[in-house]
Amino acid sequence: MKELPVVVIGAGPIGLAAAANLVTRGIPVKVLEAGDAAGANVREWGHVRLFSPWKFNVDPASRTLLKAAGWQEPEAGSYPTGNELVETYLTPLAATKELASVIEYGVRVAAIGRHGIDKVVSKGRELRPFQLTVVGRDGAVSCVRARAVIDASGTWRTPNPVSASGVATEGEETLADKITYGIPDVLGRGRADYVGRTTLVVGAGHSAANVLLDLDELSARDGATKAIWVTRGRDLSRVYGGGSNDHLAARGDLGQRLRRLVEEGRIELVSGFAITGLRQEGERIVVNGEVGGVGRTIGPVDRIVACTGQRPDLSLTRELRVEFDPWLESARALGPMIDPNLHSCGSVPPHGHRELSHPEPGFYTVGSSGRIDASSRMSAAPFFILSGIVVIGGAIGAIVGVHLLTLLKAQGIGLAAAVALGALVGPAQVGGRVIEMAGRGRHHPLWTMSAALGLIAIGIGLMALAVGPVGLAIILYGAGNGVFSIAKGTLPLALFDPHRYASLMGRLARPSLIAQAVAPTAGALLLDQRLHLDFRRFAISRLDQCGDGGGTVMVSKALAMRQ
Ligand SMILES: Cc1cc2nc3c(=O)[nH]c(=O)nc-3n(C[C@H](O)[C@H](O)[C@H](O)COP(=O)(O)OP(=O)(O)OC[C@H]3O[C@@H](n4cnc5c(N)ncnc54)[C@H](O)[C@@H]3O)c2cc1C
Repeated sequence: MKELPVVVIGAGPIGLAAAANLVTRGIPVKVLEAGDAAGANVREWGHVRLFSPWKFNVDPASRTLLKAAGWQEPEAGSYPTGNELVETYLTPLAATKELASVIEYGVRVAAIGRHGIDKVVSKGRELRPFQLTVVGRDGAVSCVRARAVIDASGTWRTPNPVSASGVATEGEETLADKITYGIPDVLGRGRADYVGRTTLVVGAGHSAANVLLDLDELSARDGATKAIWVTRGRDLSRVYGGGSNDHLAARGDLGQRLRRLVEEGRIELVSGFAITGLRQEGERIVVNGEVGGVGRTIGPVDRIVACTGQRPDLSLTRELRVEFDPWLESARALGPMIDPNLHSCGSVPPHGHRELSHPEPGFYTVGSSGRIDASSRMSAAPFFILSGIVVIGGAIGAIVGVHLLTLLKAQGIGLAAAVALGALVGPAQVGGRVIEMAGRGRHHPLWTMSAALGLIAIGIGLMALAVGPVGLAIILYGAGNGVFSIAKGTLPLALFDPHRYASLMGRLARPSLIAQAVAPTAGALLLDQRLHLDFRRFAISRLDQCGDGGGTVMVSKALAMRQ
């Protein structure tokens, strides 16, 4: 099989990067591209400016090939449009002598299987080459064999429908000529369709933001142009973004500009609107839907732009043993890493080939087939805040658990009394949990966590400031600690997707366990410094009060106590 090439499906940014990496490792490669040139999908949204600056868009192996061909790299911090990405990067990359000879254009991969066996056969599967069914421009079908296949076909050609339920809705097919999926070039190629008309833009992602901003610009030139923005959810924080704190500054800016349009009333926003059907009224469209379960209609409008995201074309891989994340439709292992409930693009950790693989040996899914669902709405903030809480809570628990006796003795409490007080922690933990259980889960875990943190803070505060009976401080701390151990299990379940619970808990536990391992030693060093200072102050103050002989006795007493 070694003589066969690795077949890469698609000559988009990722397919070309995969090919460049294979070529520079001396592995034979063949790229099959459905379009007439590299970057066929990117050209479709070529008028849109990317969020990621050039430094994130150029693959290192591709840079090496391009530089050898005399390429001038664009300024690292500037942001290309889709067209500039194609013209300045993808086209010259595809034209390098290493890649030009391995890319075939105008060929669409229709199916992938294993030569001579179907999906059911296990024996010797990995020894069989892949067999791809390829359809040419003229419709002619041919077969291509490969030792491995990298699917970089993207998602652009398989958009989601406008309906809130994710499946095509009544009227969507018959009104197809009035609906555009993706990001039309409102100010350029598509201008005639939008100028002087009312357009309904569906979706709460950055594609919708781009279209709405363009429609607003068109409206500034032609007052009759109107835009209505419909979102399924009510929380628009994801599209509005973190402003200047956004992982990607250009994305933050886009969100802020959109927010201003809404606040200034320049576009009409209907949030929480679930589209249930479309109806033709003359030459226009009436949009049926529900807000909070109550029927409502919008329109009539002239056009609809569906910015509802895209999904991969799973028909390609039907004959392979593939394992997709059940709802993101990425390779399964990648799902938790790119889950938009926990990540925004820009915060996804780097990953390797294992996360892109499937049970089918030698088959990989890469690129925008990473498939982040455009309709997801949560930000990564809750995960990081919870992570921080679990780390700090775990570290405090580890320090107090190990050094409680030392802390009590430093307050002048004798060893026996300190041990007796320390023994209160366990029963207080159990008591706290019993009280929490008495609530029978009627309160949200956020309240459980807040109560736990409050009790821990009060307990430690009282101990540190030596206010009130130490026993009370320890009971409050212990009860808080007991409730905390429940809250850190239940809160992730309430905040995030329950199906992700196991992997999420693993990711939350890792930094917390490291903190718990380091905390006792760090605590010891801090306490040592603190106690050292306290005893020096104590000894010096006594020396000031006593004569020389008495002072010496006090210092040795103080040092003895410290030990
Ligand atoms: C408006 C917009 C803005 C974006 N901005 C950014 C950004 O700022 N930064 C960023 O990193 N990403 C951005 N993205 C995501 C972007 O699409 C991807 O980063 C990039 O295009 C992914 O490249 P790809 O090669 O995986 O897929 P694509 O660019 O979609 O390329 C897939 C290629 O495969 C070909 N193909 C498809 N099916 C077949 C088949 N069956 N047989 C043969 N060939 C096939 C297609 O013709 C196409 O050339 C943006 C996307 C959109 C829509």
